Amino acid sequence: MSLQLEIASCVRATSKFSDCTKCIDACPESIQLVDNLPSFANNTGVEAAACVGVCPTEAFSLSDFSTTEFFFSFLESKVRLISPKLNVPCLSVLSVEHLISLALASEETITLDLSSYDEESILYEHIKAHIEEANFVLSSFSSKKLETNADAVTEADKNAVKTNKEDEVSDRRSFLGNVSLKGVIKHKMSFDEAVEADELKTFALDPAIIAKIRAKNLPDKRKILFTTLKHAGVPENFEVLAEEDITFTSQKFVDDSCTNCQICYRICPTGALSSDGKFSLIHFDAMLCVKCRLCHDVCEPDAIQLQPGFEIKEFFEPTQRTLATFDIKRCNECGNNFTYTGGEQTCPRCLIEEEEAMFLHSNALSMKALFDDKKDDDK
Ligand code: SF4
Ligand code: SF4
Ligand code: SF4
Repeated sequence: MSLQLEIASCVRATSKFSDCTKCIDACPESIQLVDNLPSFANNTGVEAAACVGVCPTEAFSLSDFSTTEFFFSFLESKVRLISPKLNVPCLSVLSVEHLISLALASEETITLDLSSYDEESILYEHIKAHIEEANFVLSSFSSKKLETNADAVTEADKNAVKTNKEDEVSDRRSFLGNVSLKGVIKHKMSFDEAVEADELKTFALDPAIIAKIRAKNLPDKRKILFTTLKHAGVPENFEVLAEEDITFTSQKFVDDSCTNCQICYRICPTGALSSDGKFSLIHFDAMLCVKCRLCHDVCEPDAIQLQPGFEIKEFFEPTQRTLATFDIKRCNECGNNFTYTGGEQTCPRCLIEEEEAMFLHSNALSMKALFDDKKDDDK
């Protein structure tokens, strides 16, 4: 089993300004940055599996194990133990979203087997942190929780693991394909051409990879979470969790320093940020956000910010919020639309051209005056 990286899904390939190091932080011995992109030796295997569970855009995968297929096959089986000795290559391949979804979708309590991990290792800390976050989020709206144990796996557990049938696998794929977050992906098609080609050329990427980067995709783990939440009971009261306690999604606001440069909503890999055809607003859908932080990394004035609290209500009643609106007017000079902020109705490009023309004109006048003075002196 070996590690694979779909480079088009990595936010570092989308923008040279991305600071994402989640995979490197999780697997520092196996993954390094080379030319600003994650890199690892060809034979790297499950020892680096934590990057699979931690990557916000599911750029990493293992050659012979799919977390999506595991989600369904595990729920169909009779065991309620997840163990590297039984059914996963490593517990770290499961993201916080997978853990929450598994706990919600299972009638019985699920136990995670930590017996084979060294309690002093980074990997153990990483897995514990994921389980704690999943249980913390679950505790805000459900009585379900994940257990851990250090007991040996029994023969009965091994016998209970089922293999999957092909038609079930295809059912799962179509199930995920049909998941639709009502009204939240509707704008994404207009942005397929939007990622700046100049930025992508930085890495000399293949045109096929650039095409994939342009397509906005919601990771399967988010589709699974969204679907399991729809079947969970709606809590009577909705809690607000501290922003730093939730690593896989966020809520945001945009402050007055926003210039409507359009980069954040053009570049957002999932379509969580979007706009309308005139670029007159910024929409945000928290249920599409994977907290990759790309929008923050590319925003020059630092106008897009994380909301301090994450409202759990968003899980049950997803909304599309308008973070900013802009006054779009037609430029009196060139006729193109631009973000009007007052004063003359002239777009920034025409203003620059006007300033340059005035500079050249005054320069020409000065040169002429100098030339005339010299001619007078020579007489
Ligand atoms: S965690 Fe994923 S998105 Fe982030 S740098 Fe690694 S591969 Fe790229
Ligand atoms: S929030 Fe930042 S990146 Fe987004 S449009 Fe405004 S200035 Fe540009
Ligand atoms: S809104 Fe920002 S943090 Fe969320 S997925 Fe889009 S780019 Fe990433």
